[in-house]
Amino acid sequence: GYRARSAYKLKQLDETAGLFGPGNTVVDLGAAPGGWSQVARERVGEQGTVIAVDLQRIKDIDGVETLRGDMTDDDTRERIIERIGEADVVVSDMAPNMTGEYHLDAARSAHLARMAFETALELLGAGGDLAVKIFEGQDVAPLREDMEAEFEYVRAVHPDASRDSSSELYLVAKGRLTAPVREGD
Ligand code: SAM
Repeated sequence: GYRARSAYKLKQLDETAGLFGPGNTVVDLGAAPGGWSQVARERVGEQGTVIAVDLQRIKDIDGVETLRGDMTDDDTRERIIERIGEADVVVSDMAPNMTGEYHLDAARSAHLARMAFETALELLGAGGDLAVKIFEGQDVAPLREDMEAEFEYVRAVHPDASRDSSSELYLVAKGRLTAPVREGD
């Protein structure tokens, strides 16, 4: 079994958009407790690499590397790059602690999604894919536009498995257009 029901959302995103291939290197942002990393690990197989990153400690998962850090902190991004160099797929299920205040929660979610996008730009090779969670709101369209400039195409996916929290969606970007751009390049 999976550690989190959200595992089924990633399965659906993968079935819809074809994210993972055998031997891929996958970076899973906001990975605790580890359901998505378990799915990614199954899909990439023994030859693949999965690195799971979260603010919170992640209990060991067979075949998955873990890294504890805050993705709003540049240092965490640097540590990921040091560990893996380049990635084929970046996924982010990061979510803020909910305050119940709609606009605040949406703004925080959008900030985390933006951090995932910027991290993906430093990690993904040409042809690489990104899937990122974001809450509905005014910040979705500008992020989507910025993603569209960097990938072949972007689609918004509402997985069935997340119907209970209908304010979330995933922006799935396929086919990075260029090689990684890193700070200082
Ligand atoms: N995909 C996970 C799974 O299947 O087990 C569930 C992820 S849960 C919905 C969202 C996660 O985002 C939480 O574990 C939280 O700690 C993490 N998170 C929130 N803000 C973060 C940040 N700034 N940096 C890293 N992780 C963050």
